[in-house]
Amino acid sequence: MTSTEIKLIDTHTHLYLDQFDDDREEVMIRCFESGIETILLPNINLESVPRVLDMMKKWPKACYGMMGLHPCYVNEDWGKELESIMATLDSPPDDMDFVAVGEIGLDLYWEKKFKAEQSEAFLTQARMAKERGLPIVIHVRDAWEELFTLMDKVNDESLRGVFHCFTGGLKEAERALDYGGFLLGIGGVSTYKNGGLDKVLPSIPLESLVLETDSPYLSPVPHRGKRNESSYLVHIAKKLAEIKGVSFEEVASVTKEGAVKMFGLKK
Ligand SMILES: [Zn+2]
Repeated sequence: MTSTEIKLIDTHTHLYLDQFDDDREEVMIRCFESGIETILLPNINLESVPRVLDMMKKWPKACYGMMGLHPCYVNEDWGKELESIMATLDSPPDDMDFVAVGEIGLDLYWEKKFKAEQSEAFLTQARMAKERGLPIVIHVRDAWEELFTLMDKVNDESLRGVFHCFTGGLKEAERALDYGGFLLGIGGVSTYKNGGLDKVLPSIPLESLVLETDSPYLSPVPHRGKRNESSYLVHIAKKLAEIKGVSFEEVASVTKEGAVKMFGLKK
């Protein structure tokens, strides 16, 4: 079996952004040629909603969308923007289906000014996900303690989801998985020399992991520093196989199974 016959799922990619406006078709062709058959598109703000919908329309078998407001776009008017985004979640055009509320969370790396608003927006969206039986996709940067405090408030058996672009330590990994219905999204950082994930991933069961590129950001080695794209997911899967001491096939099938189950994807 060659690696292209093994199918992978990119659980977090922003191929709808304008960084891909000039060559989106080619990027998608490379993605399919590399064995990535399914990609999940997390929304970021109101402006990106039509872009996510366009890709879902154009590649209905491959593209699954999410709806949510990213913490970096939360400001004093977040309530109004979220309302408009969630109107699409609840009445999607052409019977489209969304697979998650995302991406949502806390980002105190760029800006601490709206910490209170980010927290409120996270809790509101987590509750919306629970009401709708959807998983959440969590973005957290420089805010683990704050995020865990919010999770302690909102978590129950009905809450589930993915800690996307996981780059925490073992302590954070264990705490995240202790919530129950959660998985860790592993991306390009796992291929970086000083990424630190080589110390965490050996202790985490493969069943708790899903793969993602977070394109166009955080390109894996050997493309580090350049625009990321979903076809590069193969490098992340290979690295994870190496760290876990298992085959590429096993990484592919176990992480795919986890993603299919979490997001209710068609097999
Ligand atoms: Zn993202």
